[in-house]
Amino acid sequence: MSRPYLSVIVPVYNEEENLETLFRRLTAVLDGMGRRYEIIMTNDGSADSSGVLLHRLYQQRPDVLRVIEFNGNFGQHMAIMAAFERVRGEIVVTLDADLQNPPEEIPKLIALVEQGYDVVGGYRKNRRDTWFRRTASRIINAVRARITHIEMRDQGCMLRAYRRRVVDQVASSGEVSTFIPALAYSFASNPTEVEVEHVERIRGQSKYNLYALIRLNFDLMTGFSVVPLQLFTFFGFVVSLLSFAFVVYLFIRRLVIGPEVQGVFTLFAILYFLVGIGILGLGMIGEYIGRIYQEVRRRPRFTVKEILQQDDD
Ligand code: UDP
Ligand code: MG
Repeated sequence: MSRPYLSVIVPVYNEEENLETLFRRLTAVLDGMGRRYEIIMTNDGSADSSGVLLHRLYQQRPDVLRVIEFNGNFGQHMAIMAAFERVRGEIVVTLDADLQNPPEEIPKLIALVEQGYDVVGGYRKNRRDTWFRRTASRIINAVRARITHIEMRDQGCMLRAYRRRVVDQVASSGEVSTFIPALAYSFASNPTEVEVEHVERIRGQSKYNLYALIRLNFDLMTGFSVVPLQLFTFFGFVVSLLSFAFVVYLFIRRLVIGPEVQGVFTLFAILYFLVGIGILGLGMIGEYIGRIYQEVRRRPRFTVKEILQQDDD
């Protein structure tokens, strides 16, 4: 059995309404390319009938489909990671199961990899998400780019293609909570980006609520940079200097004017502000410690219940 040339990876979490259409369109595109390929779908602990559907699809096309069953929900990035650990292809493509990334765009990405780019990121043309999602992403993206020095036009776009070398490095990095496009970018030597279509999610719901998005971005910032810690040190330094000047000023007032009680509220306001900043700093240190804790615990990043595939060679 010869190795596939392409591996297409799809994380699946409660996508029963999309799986059949996705698989049909995906195989149509890939069959049309005339190269050997495999599709790896990771069922990330779906509670709906996605698992059953994946079994059925596997029965239809065991020649191209491989299914990894997790025994819990470990998140989109771990679902991709599990597939990264097992890819057989030379070029690896990731996309979402919800059909927001049209499979018909895949050949475009692959052509760029074949031209010599080792990471090809998609960015979404007329992104079809709510205004709130788009604005929030824009702000977060700008902050993240400055802090992590990862230049990605659209971090949320999962339609991406990688050379196998990059995928192997990502898979062996061993990080617990990570963000695959950023990690891959840090291993890339020749990345590029290309515009891809984006359509609204027609069936099923987005799995990311506001809280999950905030968490993801904390992960990005603390996982790829220590700049937040350094900024905090810097801020603490500036505040200390200002406070010192303030103390000197108050001391002189005390000598010149004598004891005063006015200004108590101003002082309280300043104090609360500083206490708030202090708590923020503690929380931020906590983010890093939490990460360190997760890493040193050395628990498995995810657990696989079952794999459906034809034998390895
Ligand atoms: N997903 C996953 N595990 C999760 C959440 C999401 O595997 O815990 C998958 C989901 O099935 C989809 C992709 O990740 O294929 C992106 O999820 P979604 O479309 O909900 O995110 P959005 O497009 O809203 O950012
Ligand atoms: Mg989506």
